[in-house]
Amino acid sequence: MRRVAVLGATGSIGTSALDVIARHPDRLQAQTLVAGRNVDALIALCRTHRPAHAAIADEQGYAALRDGLRAAGLDTAAHAGMAAIDALAADQDNDTVVAAIVGAAGLSSTLAAARAGKRLLLANKESLVLAGELLMAAARDAGATIVPIDSEHNAIFQCLPNAEAHAGLKRIQLTASGGPFRGRSRAELTDVTPAQAVAHPKWSMGPKISVDSATLMNKGLEVIEAHHLFGVPGTRIDVLVHPQSLVHSLVEFVDGSMLAQLGLPDMRTALAVGFAWPERIASGVAGLDLLTHGRLDFEPPDLDAFPCLRLAYAALDVGGSAPAVLNAANEEAVSAFLQGRIGFLSIPALVEEALQGMSHAAADSLDALLDADADARTTTRNAISRKMTAGKVNA
Ligand code: NAD
Ligand code: MG
Repeated sequence: MRRVAVLGATGSIGTSALDVIARHPDRLQAQTLVAGRNVDALIALCRTHRPAHAAIADEQGYAALRDGLRAAGLDTAAHAGMAAIDALAADQDNDTVVAAIVGAAGLSSTLAAARAGKRLLLANKESLVLAGELLMAAARDAGATIVPIDSEHNAIFQCLPNAEAHAGLKRIQLTASGGPFRGRSRAELTDVTPAQAVAHPKWSMGPKISVDSATLMNKGLEVIEAHHLFGVPGTRIDVLVHPQSLVHSLVEFVDGSMLAQLGLPDMRTALAVGFAWPERIASGVAGLDLLTHGRLDFEPPDLDAFPCLRLAYAALDVGGSAPAVLNAANEEAVSAFLQGRIGFLSIPALVEEALQGMSHAAADSLDALLDADADARTTTRNAISRKMTAGKVNA
Protein backbone atom coordinates (compact mmCIF):
# COMPACT_ATOMS: atom_id res chain seq x y z
CA MET A 1 0.00 0.00 0.00
CA ARG A 2 1.38 3.41 -0.97
CA ARG A 3 0.47 6.11 1.53
CA VAL A 4 0.40 9.40 -0.33
CA ALA A 5 0.72 13.05 0.69
CA VAL A 6 -0.89 15.29 -1.93
CA LEU A 7 0.55 18.82 -1.67
CA GLY A 8 -1.68 21.20 -3.64
CA ALA A 9 -4.62 18.81 -3.29
CA THR A 10 -7.28 21.34 -4.31
CA GLY A 11 -5.56 22.27 -7.59
CA SER A 12 -5.72 20.81 -11.06
CA ILE A 13 -2.92 18.25 -10.54
CA GLY A 14 -4.01 17.54 -6.96
CA THR A 15 -7.57 16.63 -7.93
CA SER A 16 -6.30 14.48 -10.83
CA ALA A 17 -3.98 12.68 -8.38
CA LEU A 18 -6.88 12.04 -5.99
CA ASP A 19 -8.96 10.73 -8.89
CA VAL A 20 -6.27 8.13 -9.67
CA ILE A 21 -5.80 7.28 -5.97
CA ALA A 22 -9.55 6.67 -5.54
CA ARG A 23 -9.48 4.13 -8.40
CA HIS A 24 -7.02 1.93 -6.48
CA PRO A 25 -8.12 1.53 -2.84
CA ASP A 26 -6.16 -1.74 -2.75
CA ARG A 27 -2.81 -0.06 -3.40
CA LEU A 28 -3.09 3.72 -2.88
CA GLN A 29 -4.27 5.70 0.12
CA ALA A 30 -4.48 9.49 0.55
CA GLN A 31 -2.67 9.93 3.85
CA THR A 32 -2.21 13.73 3.87
CA LEU A 33 -3.91 16.53 1.96
CA VAL A 34 -2.44 20.05 1.75
CA ALA A 35 -3.89 23.24 0.24
CA GLY A 36 -3.06 26.96 0.12
CA ARG A 37 -6.01 28.91 1.51
CA ASN A 38 -9.30 27.34 0.44
CA VAL A 39 -10.43 25.63 3.67
CA ASP A 40 -13.88 24.62 2.37
CA ALA A 41 -12.45 22.88 -0.68
CA LEU A 42 -9.92 21.07 1.51
CA ILE A 43 -12.62 19.87 3.92
CA ALA A 44 -14.73 18.65 0.98
CA LEU A 45 -11.76 16.56 -0.22
CA CYS A 46 -11.26 15.21 3.30
CA ARG A 47 -14.89 14.02 3.41
CA THR A 48 -14.27 11.97 0.26
CA HIS A 49 -10.73 10.71 0.89
CA ARG A 50 -10.59 10.53 4.71
CA PRO A 51 -6.87 11.33 5.13
CA ALA A 52 -5.08 11.11 8.49
CA HIS A 53 -3.80 14.71 8.11
CA ALA A 54 -4.98 17.91 6.43
CA ALA A 55 -2.98 21.13 6.30
CA ILE A 56 -3.68 24.64 5.11
CA ALA A 57 -0.77 26.97 4.29
CA ASP A 58 -2.64 30.05 5.44
CA GLU A 59 -2.32 30.04 9.24
CA GLN A 60 -5.52 32.11 9.55
CA GLY A 61 -7.39 29.09 8.24
CA TYR A 62 -6.42 26.77 11.08
CA ALA A 63 -9.49 27.14 13.34
CA ALA A 64 -11.91 26.84 10.41
CA LEU A 65 -10.14 23.70 9.21
CA ARG A 66 -10.06 22.08 12.66
CA ASP A 67 -13.70 22.90 13.40
CA GLY A 68 -14.87 21.94 9.91
CA LEU A 69 -13.19 18.53 10.13
CA ARG A 70 -14.76 17.94 13.51
CA ALA A 71 -18.20 19.06 12.31
CA ALA A 72 -17.86 16.60 9.42
CA GLY A 73 -17.28 13.81 11.92
CA LEU A 74 -13.76 13.14 10.62
CA ASP A 75 -10.77 12.22 12.76
CA THR A 76 -8.38 13.89 10.30
CA ALA A 77 -5.80 15.96 12.22
CA ALA A 78 -5.68 19.68 11.25
CA HIS A 79 -2.41 21.57 10.66
CA ALA A 80 -1.50 25.03 9.34
CA GLY A 81 1.52 26.95 8.11
CA MET A 82 4.44 26.20 5.82
CA ALA A 83 6.60 24.57 8.53
CA ALA A 84 3.82 22.08 9.28
CA ILE A 85 3.52 21.32 5.56
CA ASP A 86 7.27 20.67 5.27
CA ALA A 87 7.08 18.31 8.26
CA LEU A 88 4.13 16.44 6.74
CA ALA A 89 5.98 16.12 3.40
CA ALA A 90 8.82 14.38 5.25
CA ASP A 91 6.64 12.41 7.69
CA GLN A 92 7.39 8.72 7.96
CA ASP A 93 3.67 7.87 7.76
CA ASN A 94 3.76 8.44 4.01
CA ASP A 95 6.12 7.00 1.44
CA THR A 96 4.92 8.96 -1.60
CA VAL A 97 4.53 12.71 -2.11
CA VAL A 98 2.73 14.46 -4.96
CA ALA A 99 4.42 17.89 -5.13
CA ALA A 100 1.71 19.96 -6.86
CA ILE A 101 1.85 23.33 -5.12
CA VAL A 102 2.15 26.09 -7.73
CA GLY A 103 5.22 28.31 -7.89
CA ALA A 104 8.31 28.79 -5.74
CA ALA A 105 6.01 28.39 -2.71
CA GLY A 106 6.36 24.65 -3.35
CA LEU A 107 10.14 24.54 -3.01
CA SER A 108 10.56 23.90 0.71
CA SER A 109 8.05 21.03 0.91
CA THR A 110 9.42 19.49 -2.29
CA LEU A 111 12.93 19.63 -0.85
CA ALA A 112 11.70 18.18 2.44
CA ALA A 113 10.17 15.21 0.60
CA ALA A 114 13.37 14.69 -1.43
CA ARG A 115 15.54 14.83 1.71
CA ALA A 116 13.27 12.27 3.37
CA GLY A 117 13.83 9.83 0.50
CA LYS A 118 10.21 9.70 -0.69
CA ARG A 119 8.91 8.62 -4.05
CA LEU A 120 8.41 12.14 -5.34
CA LEU A 121 5.80 12.76 -8.04
CA LEU A 122 7.16 16.14 -9.04
CA ALA A 123 4.70 18.52 -10.72
CA ASN A 124 6.09 21.68 -9.09
CA LYS A 125 8.51 22.52 -11.92
CA GLU A 126 9.32 25.92 -10.41
CA SER A 127 11.28 24.19 -7.62
CA LEU A 128 13.54 22.59 -10.25
CA VAL A 129 13.99 25.89 -12.08
CA LEU A 130 14.81 27.68 -8.85
CA ALA A 131 17.02 25.08 -7.19
CA GLY A 132 17.45 22.18 -9.60
CA GLU A 133 21.00 21.22 -8.62
CA LEU A 134 20.22 21.22 -4.91
CA LEU A 135 16.96 19.35 -5.34
CA MET A 136 18.47 16.65 -7.55
CA ALA A 137 21.43 16.26 -5.18
CA ALA A 138 19.12 15.98 -2.16
CA ALA A 139 17.08 13.29 -3.92
CA ARG A 140 20.23 11.38 -4.90
CA ASP A 141 21.71 11.54 -1.40
CA ALA A 142 18.51 10.38 0.27
CA GLY A 143 17.63 7.74 -2.33
CA ALA A 144 14.41 9.51 -3.32
CA THR A 145 12.88 8.48 -6.66
CA ILE A 146 11.68 11.43 -8.70
CA VAL A 147 8.99 10.75 -11.27
CA PRO A 148 8.28 13.92 -13.27
CA ILE A 149 4.61 14.90 -13.41
CA ASP A 150 4.84 17.13 -16.42
CA SER A 151 3.51 15.42 -19.54
CA GLU A 152 6.72 16.05 -21.52
CA HIS A 153 9.13 14.94 -18.82
CA ASN A 154 6.97 11.99 -17.88
CA ALA A 155 7.11 10.98 -21.56
CA ILE A 156 10.91 11.23 -21.56
CA PHE A 157 11.07 9.34 -18.27
CA GLN A 158 9.08 6.52 -19.89
CA CYS A 159 11.38 6.54 -22.95
CA LEU A 160 14.54 6.32 -20.79
CA PRO A 161 13.79 3.42 -18.47
CA ASN A 162 17.37 2.66 -17.41
CA ALA A 163 20.98 3.86 -17.35
CA GLU A 164 21.81 2.02 -20.59
CA ALA A 165 19.09 3.85 -22.52
CA HIS A 166 20.22 7.10 -20.95
CA ALA A 167 23.83 6.52 -22.01
CA GLY A 168 22.78 6.40 -25.68
CA LEU A 169 20.69 9.55 -25.53
CA LYS A 170 21.55 12.19 -28.13
CA ARG A 171 18.84 14.84 -27.96
CA ILE A 172 15.57 15.58 -26.24
CA GLN A 173 12.67 17.08 -28.18
CA LEU A 174 10.06 18.69 -25.96
CA THR A 175 6.71 19.16 -27.62
CA ALA A 176 4.61 22.29 -27.02
CA SER A 177 0.96 22.84 -27.90
CA GLY A 178 1.76 26.46 -28.78
CA GLY A 179 -0.96 27.65 -26.38
CA PRO A 180 -4.07 29.70 -27.17
CA PHE A 181 -2.17 32.32 -29.22
CA ARG A 182 -0.25 30.03 -31.57
CA GLY A 183 0.08 31.61 -35.01
CA ARG A 184 -0.36 35.19 -33.79
CA SER A 185 2.29 37.83 -34.43
CA ARG A 186 3.72 39.92 -31.61
CA ALA A 187 1.53 42.87 -32.66
CA GLU A 188 -1.55 40.67 -32.37
CA LEU A 189 -0.77 39.92 -28.73
CA THR A 190 -0.95 43.50 -27.43
CA ASP A 191 -4.53 43.43 -26.21
CA VAL A 192 -5.10 39.81 -25.23
CA THR A 193 -6.94 39.39 -21.92
CA PRO A 194 -6.33 37.07 -18.95
CA ALA A 195 -9.53 35.18 -19.83
CA GLN A 196 -8.20 34.50 -23.35
CA ALA A 197 -4.78 33.54 -22.02
CA VAL A 198 -6.08 30.93 -19.57
CA ALA A 199 -8.36 29.29 -22.17
CA HIS A 200 -5.89 26.60 -23.20
CA PRO A 201 -6.91 24.70 -26.33
CA LYS A 202 -5.81 21.24 -25.13
CA TRP A 203 -5.11 21.09 -21.39
CA SER A 204 -7.21 22.07 -18.38
CA MET A 205 -4.75 23.54 -15.84
CA GLY A 206 -4.40 26.13 -13.07
CA PRO A 207 -4.26 29.83 -14.04
CA LYS A 208 -0.51 30.39 -13.57
CA ILE A 209 0.67 27.52 -15.79
CA SER A 210 -2.04 28.40 -18.33
CA VAL A 211 -0.61 31.91 -18.74
CA ASP A 212 2.89 30.37 -18.89
CA SER A 213 1.65 28.18 -21.75
CA ALA A 214 0.30 31.24 -23.56
CA THR A 215 3.66 33.09 -23.32
CA LEU A 216 5.70 29.89 -23.95
CA MET A 217 7.46 30.53 -20.64
CA ASN A 218 6.06 27.17 -19.61
CA LYS A 219 8.17 25.53 -22.32
CA GLY A 220 11.15 27.59 -21.22
CA LEU A 221 10.73 26.40 -17.62
CA GLU A 222 10.42 22.88 -19.02
CA VAL A 223 13.74 23.16 -20.89
CA ILE A 224 15.41 23.98 -17.56
CA GLU A 225 13.41 21.24 -15.85
CA ALA A 226 14.58 18.68 -18.45
CA HIS A 227 18.17 19.81 -18.03
CA HIS A 228 18.06 19.00 -14.30
CA LEU A 229 15.97 15.84 -14.49
CA PHE A 230 17.92 14.18 -17.30
CA GLY A 231 21.36 15.82 -17.00
CA VAL A 232 21.31 17.17 -20.56
CA PRO A 233 22.61 20.66 -21.54
CA GLY A 234 20.24 23.18 -23.10
CA THR A 235 22.06 22.84 -26.44
CA ARG A 236 20.73 19.27 -26.68
CA ILE A 237 17.11 20.13 -25.81
CA ASP A 238 14.86 21.26 -28.68
CA VAL A 239 11.30 22.54 -28.67
CA LEU A 240 8.82 21.43 -31.30
CA VAL A 241 5.35 22.94 -31.54
CA HIS A 242 2.80 20.14 -31.90
CA PRO A 243 -0.73 21.58 -31.78
CA GLN A 244 -2.57 18.26 -31.28
CA SER A 245 -0.78 17.60 -27.92
CA LEU A 246 -0.81 13.85 -28.48
CA VAL A 247 2.96 13.25 -28.76
CA HIS A 248 4.13 14.29 -25.31
CA SER A 249 7.85 14.43 -26.16
CA LEU A 250 10.57 12.50 -27.97
CA VAL A 251 14.09 11.25 -27.34
CA GLU A 252 16.67 10.68 -30.05
CA PHE A 253 19.44 8.11 -29.56
CA VAL A 254 22.94 8.02 -31.06
CA ASP A 255 21.90 5.20 -33.40
CA GLY A 256 19.31 7.36 -35.18
CA SER A 257 16.37 5.82 -33.36
CA MET A 258 13.71 8.06 -31.88
CA LEU A 259 11.17 7.15 -29.21
CA ALA A 260 8.06 9.09 -28.31
CA GLN A 261 5.27 8.64 -25.81
CA LEU A 262 1.72 9.35 -27.00
CA GLY A 263 -1.61 9.66 -25.25
CA LEU A 264 -4.62 11.90 -24.75
CA PRO A 265 -3.80 15.18 -22.96
CA ASP A 266 -4.83 14.19 -19.43
CA MET A 267 -2.39 14.35 -16.50
CA ARG A 268 -3.87 11.25 -14.86
CA THR A 269 -1.72 9.12 -17.19
CA ALA A 270 1.49 10.69 -15.87
CA LEU A 271 0.22 10.41 -12.29
CA ALA A 272 -0.61 6.70 -12.71
CA VAL A 273 2.91 6.17 -14.06
CA GLY A 274 4.26 7.97 -11.00
CA PHE A 275 2.26 5.93 -8.51
CA ALA A 276 2.87 2.50 -10.04
CA TRP A 277 6.18 2.67 -11.94
CA PRO A 278 7.55 0.30 -13.21
CA GLU A 279 4.11 -1.30 -13.16
CA ARG A 280 1.13 0.10 -15.04
CA ILE A 281 -2.27 0.78 -13.49
CA ALA A 282 -5.54 2.17 -14.86
CA SER A 283 -5.73 5.98 -14.77
CA GLY A 284 -9.23 6.64 -16.06
CA VAL A 285 -7.78 7.98 -19.33
CA ALA A 286 -9.00 6.31 -22.52
CA GLY A 287 -6.58 4.96 -25.10
CA LEU A 288 -5.63 7.07 -28.06
CA ASP A 289 -7.46 6.34 -31.32
CA LEU A 290 -5.08 7.68 -33.96
CA LEU A 291 -7.62 7.17 -36.75
CA THR A 292 -10.02 9.61 -35.09
CA HIS A 293 -7.29 12.20 -34.70
CA GLY A 294 -5.90 11.62 -38.18
CA ARG A 295 -2.84 13.83 -38.17
CA LEU A 296 0.14 14.91 -36.12
CA ASP A 297 1.64 18.29 -37.08
CA PHE A 298 4.95 19.84 -36.03
CA GLU A 299 6.33 23.37 -36.48
CA PRO A 300 9.12 25.50 -34.99
CA PRO A 301 8.33 27.89 -32.11
CA ASP A 302 8.01 31.62 -32.96
CA LEU A 303 10.60 33.27 -30.70
CA ASP A 304 9.73 36.76 -31.92
CA ALA A 305 6.11 36.57 -30.75
CA PHE A 306 7.02 34.46 -27.69
CA PRO A 307 10.41 35.68 -26.39
CA CYS A 308 9.97 33.99 -22.98
CA LEU A 309 11.27 30.75 -24.47
CA ARG A 310 14.43 32.49 -25.65
CA LEU A 311 14.86 34.14 -22.23
CA ALA A 312 14.68 30.76 -20.50
CA TYR A 313 17.35 29.25 -22.75
CA ALA A 314 19.52 32.32 -22.03
CA ALA A 315 19.02 31.98 -18.26
CA LEU A 316 19.96 28.30 -18.40
CA ASP A 317 23.06 29.19 -20.39
CA VAL A 318 24.13 31.85 -17.84
CA GLY A 319 23.41 29.40 -15.02
CA GLY A 320 23.87 30.14 -11.32
CA SER A 321 20.96 32.14 -9.96
CA ALA A 322 19.75 33.33 -13.40
CA PRO A 323 17.00 30.68 -13.68
CA ALA A 324 15.82 31.64 -10.16
CA VAL A 325 15.58 35.27 -11.30
CA LEU A 326 13.74 34.26 -14.47
CA ASN A 327 11.24 32.23 -12.45
CA ALA A 328 10.61 34.84 -9.75
CA ALA A 329 10.20 37.72 -12.23
CA ASN A 330 7.83 35.57 -14.25
CA GLU A 331 5.70 34.65 -11.22
CA GLU A 332 5.33 38.32 -10.29
CA ALA A 333 4.59 39.38 -13.86
CA VAL A 334 2.02 36.61 -14.41
CA SER A 335 0.30 37.47 -11.15
CA ALA A 336 0.08 41.16 -12.19
CA PHE A 337 -1.23 40.15 -15.63
CA LEU A 338 -3.92 37.90 -14.08
CA GLN A 339 -4.98 40.83 -11.86
CA GLY A 340 -5.36 43.02 -14.96
CA ARG A 341 -2.56 45.35 -13.87
CA ILE A 342 -0.25 44.87 -16.87
CA GLY A 343 -0.62 43.73 -20.46
CA PHE A 344 0.48 40.39 -21.90
CA LEU A 345 3.59 41.73 -23.63
CA SER A 346 4.81 43.19 -20.35
CA ILE A 347 5.46 39.66 -19.08
CA PRO A 348 8.54 39.00 -21.28
CA ALA A 349 9.61 42.65 -20.94
CA LEU A 350 9.66 42.41 -17.14
CA VAL A 351 11.47 39.08 -17.13
CA GLU A 352 14.11 40.42 -19.51
CA GLU A 353 14.53 43.55 -17.39
CA ALA A 354 15.04 41.48 -14.24
CA LEU A 355 17.58 39.21 -15.93
CA GLN A 356 19.55 42.12 -17.34
CA GLY A 357 19.48 44.20 -14.19
CA MET A 358 20.76 41.62 -11.77
CA SER A 359 24.14 40.21 -10.96
CA HIS A 360 23.98 36.46 -11.09
CA ALA A 361 25.32 34.56 -8.12
CA ALA A 362 26.35 30.91 -7.93
CA ALA A 363 23.60 28.36 -7.28
CA ASP A 364 25.43 26.41 -4.61
CA SER A 365 23.42 27.44 -1.57
CA LEU A 366 19.73 27.59 -0.94
CA ASP A 367 20.10 30.94 0.81
CA ALA A 368 21.80 32.49 -2.23
CA LEU A 369 19.00 31.23 -4.49
CA LEU A 370 16.26 32.44 -2.15
CA ASP A 371 17.98 35.85 -1.99
CA ALA A 372 18.05 35.99 -5.79
CA ASP A 373 14.37 35.02 -5.86
CA ALA A 374 13.46 37.74 -3.33
CA ASP A 375 15.53 40.43 -5.09
CA ALA A 376 14.00 39.59 -8.46
CA ARG A 377 10.50 39.85 -6.97
CA THR A 378 11.25 43.30 -5.52
CA THR A 379 12.80 44.49 -8.80
CA THR A 380 9.82 43.23 -10.79
CA ARG A 381 7.19 44.64 -8.41
CA ASN A 382 8.91 48.03 -8.59
CA ALA A 383 9.04 47.85 -12.37
CA ILE A 384 5.32 46.98 -12.45
CA SER A 385 4.49 50.01 -10.28
CA ARG A 386 6.58 52.23 -12.55
CA LYS A 387 4.81 50.92 -15.65
CA MET A 388 1.41 51.52 -14.11
CA THR A 389 2.33 55.05 -13.08
CA ALA A 390 3.65 55.79 -16.57
CA GLY A 391 0.64 54.12 -18.21
CA LYS A 392 2.98 51.79 -20.14
CA VAL A 393 1.17 48.60 -19.29
CA ASN A 394 2.32 46.82 -22.41
CA ALA A 395 5.99 47.60 -22.79
P1 NAD B 1 -3.45 25.06 -9.41
O1 NAD B 1 -3.41 26.53 -9.33
O2 NAD B 1 -4.64 24.40 -10.02
O3 NAD B 1 -3.27 24.42 -7.94
C1 NAD B 1 -2.28 24.87 -7.08
C2 NAD B 1 -2.40 24.18 -5.72
O4 NAD B 1 -1.38 24.70 -4.87
C3 NAD B 1 -3.74 24.45 -5.01
O5 NAD B 1 -4.12 23.29 -4.31
C4 NAD B 1 -3.37 25.54 -4.00
O6 NAD B 1 -4.20 25.53 -2.86
C5 NAD B 1 -1.97 25.13 -3.64
N1 NAD B 1 -1.14 26.23 -3.10
C6 NAD B 1 -0.90 27.43 -3.65
N2 NAD B 1 -0.05 28.14 -2.87
C7 NAD B 1 0.25 27.34 -1.83
C8 NAD B 1 1.08 27.47 -0.68
N3 NAD B 1 1.76 28.60 -0.44
N4 NAD B 1 1.18 26.44 0.16
C9 NAD B 1 0.48 25.30 -0.03
N5 NAD B 1 -0.32 25.12 -1.09
C10 NAD B 1 -0.43 26.12 -1.97
O7 NAD B 1 -2.11 24.62 -10.17
P2 NAD B 1 -1.84 23.31 -11.06
O8 NAD B 1 -2.22 23.58 -12.45
O9 NAD B 1 -2.40 22.11 -10.39
O10 NAD B 1 -0.25 23.27 -11.03
C11 NAD B 1 0.47 22.82 -9.91
C12 NAD B 1 1.93 22.62 -10.31
O11 NAD B 1 1.99 21.57 -11.28
C13 NAD B 1 2.58 23.84 -10.97
O12 NAD B 1 3.91 23.91 -10.59
C14 NAD B 1 2.46 23.54 -12.45
O13 NAD B 1 3.49 24.15 -13.21
C15 NAD B 1 2.62 22.03 -12.46
N6 NAD B 1 2.03 21.36 -13.61
C16 NAD B 1 0.68 21.41 -13.79
C17 NAD B 1 0.10 20.79 -14.89
C18 NAD B 1 -1.40 20.78 -15.08
O14 NAD B 1 -1.88 20.08 -15.98
N7 NAD B 1 -2.18 21.50 -14.30
C19 NAD B 1 0.92 20.12 -15.82
C20 NAD B 1 2.29 20.10 -15.60
C21 NAD B 1 2.83 20.71 -14.49
MG1 MG C 1 4.23 20.33 -19.52
